Amino acid sequence: MRIDYFAIIFFLFFLAVSCQKPTEDTAPDALAFVGGNIIDGTGRQPISNGVLLVRDGRVAGVGTQADVELPENTEVIDLKGKTVIPGLINTHAHVNFVSHKQADSDTTHNLVDQLALYARYGITTVVSLGEDHQKGAPLREAVDTTTTRDRARFYVAGAVVTGETPEEAVAVVDRNVKMGVDFIKIRVDDQLGTTSKMPQEIYQAVIDRSHEHQLKLAAHMYYLEDAKRLLEAGADFLAHSVRDQVVDTELIQLLKEKNVCYCPTLTREVSTFVYEEVPDFFDDPFFLREADTVELAALKDPQRQQQIKNSQSAQTYKQALPTALANLKILSDSSVTIAMGTDSGVPTRFQGYFEHLEMELMAEAGMSPMQIIVAATKDAAACLGLPDIGTLENGKWADFIILDEDPLADIKNTRSISSVWIGGQPIER
Ligand SMILES: [Zn+2]
Repeated sequence: MRIDYFAIIFFLFFLAVSCQKPTEDTAPDALAFVGGNIIDGTGRQPISNGVLLVRDGRVAGVGTQADVELPENTEVIDLKGKTVIPGLINTHAHVNFVSHKQADSDTTHNLVDQLALYARYGITTVVSLGEDHQKGAPLREAVDTTTTRDRARFYVAGAVVTGETPEEAVAVVDRNVKMGVDFIKIRVDDQLGTTSKMPQEIYQAVIDRSHEHQLKLAAHMYYLEDAKRLLEAGADFLAHSVRDQVVDTELIQLLKEKNVCYCPTLTREVSTFVYEEVPDFFDDPFFLREADTVELAALKDPQRQQQIKNSQSAQTYKQALPTALANLKILSDSSVTIAMGTDSGVPTRFQGYFEHLEMELMAEAGMSPMQIIVAATKDAAACLGLPDIGTLENGKWADFIILDEDPLADIKNTRSISSVWIGGQPIER
């Protein structure tokens, strides 16, 4: 009997030693993604057969295999045949508009869900330009951590600033600042002549106050004249396309002189009229993998389709799309800095998918795939003053997408996502 116990104890001891799980000592110090094409987001030619070294959530080396030395205890991940691009940045999003299945309105839970959805589509940073309200700012606090994350990085503008007088509007700015927002957002638009436009006196006061707080101001606009006046008043970001007419040299000069970026939001226009029939993308598996069937059924309802066909505003925005596309090409050719943004997150503007659709439209406008990638990465980050993201360069957060197909051959290949990484951690998809 005693011998049996000995045998069992010995056997258990042997088992414990031989099956020991890797401890912290054996966990890799770094990850090396080796053998793929690396598009670093700067606009430089891709590095073929490259190495992307990631350590502590950040890029620790990028280059050819000869350039980058791998530290001891590095886990190597083979990327042969694949392409790496930086995580995409949506500079004009919205969160917390609630879908039918999220009766639980305006909760942190909703917000986390939506940021996770963006992340699964490779949108690793989301800038919410307004109406994110109280819940947005506290969650945003967690932005710069290296802990495992399953959602996009997040920046907010708080309440869109309005007011009947400069004093009233400035008070909204101050309330936003107290809440801890990253940007200030205003609208200067009459909604195709149906509402009154924010007067110059008020937006000037809002812009000045934002700058006193060292915050950039993003402006919703529609008309060429308003865009010019906003730039003269000091606005830092044009959050939509000019859509009433073709842009002119005065606007181009103002944009360049003031170093202001232009965010086309072409899919915003699309969303106003595209559901007058069943859109082509309703067959795209990349769309369907996340789409909600109840929402899709509602959008296919013939009565609703007829309403859109009959809607004057929908049809006006439909006619505005070619103007927006032409303006994007003119501004891009004139070396104005373009920042990818969609205005997604409002109902019928699908978070995550619309960013890929936006890039397809930017290509339709005439931008090259490389120009589009830069607009969605390096320039998007630079336009909004986010220095730690946007490119795959040493010291930046390791936010990137691994693609099966080459996006330089066709921008639609940004949909061939193999995996998404944020802060050096893989996103569950
Ligand atoms: Zn918007």
